[in-house]
Amino acid sequence: MHISDIRKFNRCHQLYWLSAQNERRFFPYLNVCEDVCESVSRKLGIEWYNTGNTNETNEDSLRMLESSPWLFRARFEACGLRVKIPLIQCKDGHAVIYSILLSTGINSEEITALRYEYEVLAKLGIAVDDMFVLYLNSDYQRGHSLDHHKLWKITDRYKENTLLELALSLDVDLEETVSEISAYQPEQPSHSSKCSGRSRCQFYETCFPDEVIREDNSILTLVSSQYKRQMFADGIRCLKDADEKRLEGSRIQYAQIMADRNGGLFFERAPLRQWLADNVHYPLAFIDFEWDLYPIPPFEGMKPLDVSVFQYSLHVDDGTSLKHYQFIGEGDCRRKLVESMLENLPEEGTVFAYNAKGAEMIRINEFARLFPDCGEKLESINNRMVDLADPFISGMVYDTRMRGSFTLKTIEEMVDSDHSYHDLDVSNGIEAVEIHRLLEASDDLKDRETYFEQLYKYCGLDSYSLYKVLNWLRQITEE
Ligand code: SF4
Repeated sequence: MHISDIRKFNRCHQLYWLSAQNERRFFPYLNVCEDVCESVSRKLGIEWYNTGNTNETNEDSLRMLESSPWLFRARFEACGLRVKIPLIQCKDGHAVIYSILLSTGINSEEITALRYEYEVLAKLGIAVDDMFVLYLNSDYQRGHSLDHHKLWKITDRYKENTLLELALSLDVDLEETVSEISAYQPEQPSHSSKCSGRSRCQFYETCFPDEVIREDNSILTLVSSQYKRQMFADGIRCLKDADEKRLEGSRIQYAQIMADRNGGLFFERAPLRQWLADNVHYPLAFIDFEWDLYPIPPFEGMKPLDVSVFQYSLHVDDGTSLKHYQFIGEGDCRRKLVESMLENLPEEGTVFAYNAKGAEMIRINEFARLFPDCGEKLESINNRMVDLADPFISGMVYDTRMRGSFTLKTIEEMVDSDHSYHDLDVSNGIEAVEIHRLLEASDDLKDRETYFEQLYKYCGLDSYSLYKVLNWLRQITEE
């Protein structure tokens, strides 16, 4: 058993049990392309250290601590709990332990982890005298090379108290916790805020199979609704039958209910026509970026947890033909990508993107800060950028086939059912990032060709989807 199992168990017993039964392939969202141990050792001025490995025993770790008091990724086990301590300094039975976080702050869960590490070491006769957390400095901006001292912050405190005080104040009994978790048998799941709070639990449909959305117009597709499950339990199955007294009354909810009453589609003809008249100016550009997320900034000018764009796809409709341009780069390709984009993107006309305010516009602002000589042209792109998500998320348009989802993929599949992302080897942004990482790591010409092809197909589809969605909006207002 690991600390992650205790975390899951504390969050929801059922979650722990289902996770243990369904091991999922883990994809690391963060691209860690620096040696974290080396970077931390420079921050702390450690000259000689060892690094632990998977499946090592207490004896292996203790042996390494004999040759150097510093050990990264130290594996220890006691009472059935295995811990991997990010960094330990240990001599003569006394230790200082360090958490290393690839985030820009500490959360209270970290203190629980430190306490369990303390307990395991105590069972092995090692006294923990102090605890520290290293985390990323959000104010740090990388220069030509990485400054390991400025990159990391270190603290022995959380709010008012020391980490050691806080960890020891927790009510923890290692043997009892391990035996309670080991003996756990699944129960009938019950709803809590953890099931569908800020984000929906990955096991929601396993726990509550009755709530699987089977019909496009199901009441369960109602967005931002506090009472949809209650209405469902009361026998209300369709959006059109929603209980008005239990609606929040948002414009989107109204659009959803009206769509069901109209046979599937609702749109406000006059406002949508006006939106199109205000925003469609030729030549039309449709743009989409792909990027990777780095906790440790790999390139000059980046901060911890910044992203770096590695690809754009651009369709340009000048009113007579549709042209496609794209770019895929490796390493620090930011300048080349910006130059290529500026070369191909028209200097006038509307630039469409999806969720532009939360994505493409931010990236373009970052480029403008990074390359001030291109600032004017980049600013002009943002000034002409229009978010194609707006008619949907504002409730101006809703089709029950969206099933309460407002992603570009859902809408693309609705407007063109023959053309699906599912037919591609790469079918979502995460997979695109994964393929790009493989591309960067590969020297094999044939593999690289395949990766390029997969990325071109997927990302080209995103910008082409924007073109199709705009045409669909125009078509429904003209019918
Ligand atoms: S859906 Fe709810 S009950 Fe089921 S595992 Fe997730 S959090 Fe636990």
